[in-house]
Amino acid sequence: MRINADLHIHSRFSGATSDRMTIAALSVEAPRKGIDVLATGDCLNSNWLKEIKTCAVIDEGTFELNNTRFILSTEVEDASRVHHLLYFPSFSAIETFKAAIRSKSKNLETDGRPNVAMTGVELASIAKEVDALIGPAHAFTPWTAMYAYHPSVEHCYGEMSPYVSFIELGLSADTDYADTIQELQRLTFLTNSDCHSPHPVRLAREFTRFEVGEKTFSEIKKAILRTGGNKPVLNVGLPPQEGKYNESACISCFTHYTLEEAIRRRWKCSCGKRIKKGVRDRIREIATFREPQHPAHRPPYVHLIPLSEIIAKALGQHTPFTQSVTKRWDELITAFGSEVTVLLDADLAEVARVTVPAITAAIRAFRDHKVIIIPGGGGKYGTIELPTDEDPVIPASLGPKNSQTSLLDY
Ligand SMILES: [Zn+2]
Ligand SMILES: [Zn+2]
Repeated sequence: MRINADLHIHSRFSGATSDRMTIAALSVEAPRKGIDVLATGDCLNSNWLKEIKTCAVIDEGTFELNNTRFILSTEVEDASRVHHLLYFPSFSAIETFKAAIRSKSKNLETDGRPNVAMTGVELASIAKEVDALIGPAHAFTPWTAMYAYHPSVEHCYGEMSPYVSFIELGLSADTDYADTIQELQRLTFLTNSDCHSPHPVRLAREFTRFEVGEKTFSEIKKAILRTGGNKPVLNVGLPPQEGKYNESACISCFTHYTLEEAIRRRWKCSCGKRIKKGVRDRIREIATFREPQHPAHRPPYVHLIPLSEIIAKALGQHTPFTQSVTKRWDELITAFGSEVTVLLDADLAEVARVTVPAITAAIRAFRDHKVIIIPGGGGKYGTIELPTDEDPVIPASLGPKNSQTSLLDY
């Protein structure tokens, strides 16, 4: 079976997260985004673990509420500020892992994403002992990512490198970016939302589709390891330009710079503050290949813009967090079941019957690749613009259903 999984989120027990990040809210919101399995995030935190334990037990590593499956995961920050993602097979594996890091972490019980005064090598070897999967989170971002502090996977994980089976691409990168780096060719690429809120513009803005036998931890583990016929079959995510660290830009006034300009200015903006190296430029510097070389196992990557962002633009709203955007989003999800269906698969004539012409036109522009993206950088998300020459009136006959690839194909 094919399942959609978002394997990196944070609970309300992590810093700067929404109070609405409860297991109950997530279990209801996930299917509306077309998601079958969520990783819990923050599973080293006792309060969050208590909440996870209210779900029905499918097996040692798989839990369920409202038809949404959960697997056990966390993110930790190591001694050199690198973020690692971990996936655990059971509650007992979590307890053993916690016992091994407890003396090295001051905020193990107070922050959902603890800081651990250990190296990547040490963390990976404890992970291996408890049979947990480990890999770098948002590997290319400028603050807390593997490539910000290490020139290579090997440099970060040392002799444990062969145990690392995946990297998370992060919002500002995609498969074309990452497959210019030779050492990443053997790894599975995960696309996850890393969301701090269950709002539909955040939850599952990136996800991975897997071929598995069942919706369980062990089957997903096999898919990440690409064994027994299990595998990732599709990565879905934002266009990398929408990420907040896509281009090199000032962290204060958000002026963008080319790599050459930033180097010439010694990474100092004209306003005096720091220019942060964007993911695009970081990858250009460490790339082995000029053009992406996709290994045979690499699945396709489909770029999706969150539907509520498209609706907000169509309605002329400044943010997707308004009531009128939510109302229009709800109408479409109620009619078509999930966001992915509305964005890619629903017949536009049907969409036009449910919503206002401006929104139908905006969805059509997205499918036709006509949405303009103004790149993000310096910590500010990219933004979208709709084409101005579009006629918002939808003709009765629309021709072919989709010009964008349908996700049903994968
Ligand atoms: Zn992180
Ligand atoms: Zn500046």
